[in-house]
Amino acid sequence: MTPSYDLHSHSIASDGTLTPEELVKRARSAGVDVLALTDHDTVDGISAAQQAARHIGLQLVPGIELSVSWGSHVIHVVGLNINPDDAALTTGLEGLLEFRQWRGEEIGRRLAKHNIAGAYEGAQTYTMGNVISRTHYARWLVAQGLAKDMNAAFKRYLGNGKCAYVKGEWAALEDAVNWITGAGGQAVIAHPARYRLTATRLRKLLAEFREHGGAGLEVVSGSHSRDEMYHMATQARVFELYASAGSDYHGPENPWVDLGRLPALPTGCIPIWQDWGLKRVMSNER
Ligand code: AMP
Ligand code: MN
Ligand code: MN
Ligand code: MN
Repeated sequence: MTPSYDLHSHSIASDGTLTPEELVKRARSAGVDVLALTDHDTVDGISAAQQAARHIGLQLVPGIELSVSWGSHVIHVVGLNINPDDAALTTGLEGLLEFRQWRGEEIGRRLAKHNIAGAYEGAQTYTMGNVISRTHYARWLVAQGLAKDMNAAFKRYLGNGKCAYVKGEWAALEDAVNWITGAGGQAVIAHPARYRLTATRLRKLLAEFREHGGAGLEVVSGSHSRDEMYHMATQARVFELYASAGSDYHGPENPWVDLGRLPALPTGCIPIWQDWGLKRVMSNER
């Protein structure tokens, strides 16, 4: 039987709600054989996930999801099979987390200007301390009764152009790809249909990404419709990118997206994991 891959997931080290151990266990129960932990801009959860995975016979792929500024867009780039201790990656992540921290405080100040006091402290109670994201604000706003659900919190306060939206400089696309590749990993454009790019812009993004050494496109995503999946399968073929598949699971609170419940890659896609077995054998021989 072919193994089941889920190559995009979050733990409480970023904006998921499960600990790395809980995430790995849940993935195993859901029938996932190979799981990538891809927290936003941090590798903090990886060693705990790896240990838990060893115990239950799941293969854990060390990963990351980097925030990238590309023109006026924020693009997410997933890194798979990275060495989490790589020096250049570590330095890159320090810069991203410094910006994320300032931006997290700035969101709090903007909400205070809109007569919502204590939001930063409130959002912090949902984090592990190192990574503060809009997701944590959204959870707090919902708990306060200031938004009816997460989506409403983004629509009203946190989304692009809304009162607490802070523009800023995340990583450059080229740097993000280099950090991942330099750490021995493969770079993948996450959930490409979520950016609402025009056809021209999407082609430009994928061409640039390829030029910088990007390897894959997340054709199958928990956030893609079937139309979007087939569209991105075509783009992956045209730009000669490997296809990846990931749920983008954040926790059991969201019933729409679960671990491992993903459609198969459309025909004609070359799976990003195609040579992983080979690579592992080679690295064992060294
Ligand atoms: P940040 O990286 O801090 O800008 O936060 C982005 C995260 O917010 C994404 O990774 C999603 O997990 C979450 N997010 C974005 N839009 C929505 C939405 N409409 N509803 C729920 N979560 C969202
Ligand atoms: Mn997220
Ligand atoms: Mn993302
Ligand atoms: Mn994600």
